[in-house]
Amino acid sequence: MARFEAEGLNHGSSGNISVRAGSRTLITPAGARAANLTPERIVALDIEGALCDGGADVPSTEWRIHTEIYRARPEVMAVVHSHADNCVALSCHHRPLPPFHYMIAGFGGDEVPCARYQPLGSDALAFAVTEALGARYKACLMASHGMVAVGTSLSQASDLTVKLEMLARQYLLARQAGEPVLLSEDELREVHRRYGYYGHSRMPR
Ligand SMILES: [Zn+2]
Repeated sequence: MARFEAEGLNHGSSGNISVRAGSRTLITPAGARAANLTPERIVALDIEGALCDGGADVPSTEWRIHTEIYRARPEVMAVVHSHADNCVALSCHHRPLPPFHYMIAGFGGDEVPCARYQPLGSDALAFAVTEALGARYKACLMASHGMVAVGTSLSQASDLTVKLEMLARQYLLARQAGEPVLLSEDELREVHRRYGYYGHSRMPR
């Protein structure tokens, strides 16, 4: 959380982070701020969301989002939820972030979806986010609320959070000069093909 606060990705106690540990979810507590978060304050939940031990803290109000994602996506090991400014601004349009830049394809599809609006802390919000992520997306916006990113590690989910906030900022900038051109299906297919080689020494020409 200190990293998110330092990078301007979160403010006060509005975001939350979790990791999967076996059948448990380890999550930041309600009201956690970068300045007051210590390892002892991390809350352990079982698969149903029940408290595993009797610490002084209760889990983040959005714990349902985290446990629902872990239930739906066996490969996910970490979840980050943030109210980063540019993601929030875009989420207020209740629309996906479209493929205005090739890096959108790095989130698993041809856009970054937007989960429909539901009240904070509700089961309905957890279901809406899980539905928006589906089986393949690595992040989504949350209508009039914020964003969620998932990863096979906490560093991956954190990096995706930073990347999505950057793209949201760039999209808002691009729109100041009118409606940006979106990449075509063919162009996106080629990006996905190249992402398949990403990290290898030789990318196809
Ligand atoms: Zn929130």
